[in-house]
Amino acid sequence: MTGPPEDRASWPELLEYAPCGLLVTEPDGTIRLVNATFCTWTGYRAAELVHEHRIQDLFTVGGRLFHHTHWLPLMQMQGSAAEVKFDVLHREGQRVPMLFNAIARQRGTRIYHELAVVVVHDRQKYEQELLRARKSAESALAEQQKAQQALARSRDELAQADRRKDEFLATLGHELRNPLSSMHNVLAILRRQSPGTPEMDRLHGMLGRQVHYLSRLVSDLLDVSRIAQGKLQMRRQPTELASVVRDAVELVQSPIDSAAQRLDISLPPKPVVVDADPVRLTQMLLNLLHNATKYTPHGGQITLGVTCDDDYAVIRVRDSGVGIAREDLGSVFEMFSQVSGSAGHSQGGLGIGLALVRGLVDLHDGIIEAGSEGPGKGSEFVVRLPVLRTKPEDEAVPPVSAAQSPGGRCRVVVIDDNQDAAESLAMLLELEGHEVRVAGSGLAGLELARNSDAEVVLLDIGLPDIDGYEVARRIRQQPWGRKLLLIAVSGWGQERDRQAAADAGFDRHLTKPVDIGELTALLRAAG
Ligand code: ADP
Repeated sequence: MTGPPEDRASWPELLEYAPCGLLVTEPDGTIRLVNATFCTWTGYRAAELVHEHRIQDLFTVGGRLFHHTHWLPLMQMQGSAAEVKFDVLHREGQRVPMLFNAIARQRGTRIYHELAVVVVHDRQKYEQELLRARKSAESALAEQQKAQQALARSRDELAQADRRKDEFLATLGHELRNPLSSMHNVLAILRRQSPGTPEMDRLHGMLGRQVHYLSRLVSDLLDVSRIAQGKLQMRRQPTELASVVRDAVELVQSPIDSAAQRLDISLPPKPVVVDADPVRLTQMLLNLLHNATKYTPHGGQITLGVTCDDDYAVIRVRDSGVGIAREDLGSVFEMFSQVSGSAGHSQGGLGIGLALVRGLVDLHDGIIEAGSEGPGKGSEFVVRLPVLRTKPEDEAVPPVSAAQSPGGRCRVVVIDDNQDAAESLAMLLELEGHEVRVAGSGLAGLELARNSDAEVVLLDIGLPDIDGYEVARRIRQQPWGRKLLLIAVSGWGQERDRQAAADAGFDRHLTKPVDIGELTALLRAAG
């Protein structure tokens, strides 16, 4: 190149050898001017192209067609075209992919097309690679979406199976309550009628323990499934831990005594108050103590300690029993988990006790940990609950109590479609001196209550014709039904069931199996 680039005189030479092909054509494509770069790329001399060829003559057949159908109309209508790709045929025959930009410009009276062209070999390769990469990215994305969909599907299925399991457990627990209820009643009747021989007392004791054990399993089962479904209702109130300890220990004392174990209890000098549901807290502690006695051999040692630091009340239940292997410590709180090997199992159980304990601790915003030095070296369960800084409320006086209200005989109607449950309850109440009649359906019960001038109606909720709520509503609508004591006896004991019973006009709601002491106290008060 002659002269420096800023010299305008070097302009023609710059255009001649510019890094792009430059052409001027007539509107029909006839080449009028072409630079050396384009000639080099196509293998022609300029003289062979100018006036001799139309630009489209250098294109492949498809290119020519496209030139005719798209390029020319575009140039006519909008006077320009940008980034149009044609394969240009080299003189030797090989294809050279080129990208064309063009504008139409008027010179004097005539119109010319000015073309700038670049070779796009590399770009094509690059585009192909890009296309391949895009395709593989797309297929990876599709695979990922498929995998995500499959994951979501199996998550849904799992959640559904889990829901079904919880529903099944709830129904199973509920269904088991009816037979348990009858067994409870029959046992109480047998006790009252027993000749009182030591042999009979022993058998009653045995049966009582088994029925009690079954009832505990069933209510634990119902509670864990309620916790899993987020349906467990808590009645939290300022609760003094010493009273919870007292209640739990009282309930577990008999198995501890039978196993000749020693229970040491240590409480802090000052009362420790937590914001808790006292019934649930007792249940939690009872489960831990039950396990401690269950997994500790005859003559072993159990300690229960309560301490308090600034923010937390700490409850420790320690035993000298079979212990837990380190690798099992993490899983003992899982539902249905039972530790295998010599340390576990032989004691029976469903593996729900600790899952329930952890659920209850969680609901109290607390923490639970299990510890053990290993098999044979005892276990320790530590529960931490946030302490409440206020003094406990004065204990509410229970509304009715057997001891406080000596009462008389009542005319009672029992309405339950489960014949065994109804009859055994009736017999039990008759033994207490009440006059009892039984009906197996809602409408029959309604009739019976009217005709027998009932003072108390014990009413199951699930009945074959109209349900217990409806029976209650109808009773309350009658002049004779306004004052009688209406008690729901139901397998469902959640807060909303109690609320529904209260809304329908029930005075009380008892959960099956009915606590006979509570029921007879209610009747005595009513009599
Ligand atoms: P279950 O006692 O009905 O099997 P839990 O949920 O109460 O179910 O306990 C789960 C498992 O944890 C038990 O099977 C037992 O192996 C282990 N475990 C619980 N408490 C103790 C304890 N105090 N000592 C040793 N092992 C225990």
